[in-house]
Amino acid sequence: MKLLYNKILRGKILVKTGLHIGGNVDVIEIGGIDNPVIKNPMTEEPYIPGSSIKGKLRFLLEWKLGKIEPGGEVHKWCGDTECPICRIFGTSSNEETQIGPTRLIVRDAELTDCFKNKIKKGISLVEVKYENTINRIKATATPRPLERVIAGVEFNFELLYRVFDMGDRGKIDEDMFKYVLKGLRCLQQDTLGGSGSRGCGKIEFLDLVDENKNRIDLFDIKEEG
Ligand SMILES: [Zn+2]
Repeated sequence: MKLLYNKILRGKILVKTGLHIGGNVDVIEIGGIDNPVIKNPMTEEPYIPGSSIKGKLRFLLEWKLGKIEPGGEVHKWCGDTECPICRIFGTSSNEETQIGPTRLIVRDAELTDCFKNKIKKGISLVEVKYENTINRIKATATPRPLERVIAGVEFNFELLYRVFDMGDRGKIDEDMFKYVLKGLRCLQQDTLGGSGSRGCGKIEFLDLVDENKNRIDLFDIKEEG
């Protein structure tokens, strides 16, 4: 087993409809928001954790490839060294001797410089959306505030994909990279973060390039196969 090279994909994530990826609530002020977006505690800049992107890619690909466990749990090591889910997203360390380490690393997506500057100027990039829960009998609404990154904001996106020689000169890993691209395409058609079924979290990948600065167009990625 030998690491041959890294494939890299860089671009931007454009928020198309308010994005909610929940942060921690340490102190709730009176009248304050109990459902904030995750922010860098030093700078107060919202960001998208790489783990959120990777988790959603995994979820979408498990569905697409029919790898959903009967009880709905996360796909577990299935014994197939050519399973795209186990290879790309990793398994517990016990199985790594057979399948090698996790191939996909997704970096935390930080605001682009343009939007970092807006925060420095005191411009807010978040909004509060009130979502109502309607009591079915009394017909009263209980509004719950939800903080979202506003539409139009852009984050820098980067992922790294490691190609290992597993006695095949990296052929299988190289071939499986197509699933990463399919996952990104699915994610663009789906939602990221919370309240997706209520209209949040539509995103678009912009200006994607590979490690050789070749443009990658997700619309060129075939749906099937
Ligand atoms: Zn598997």
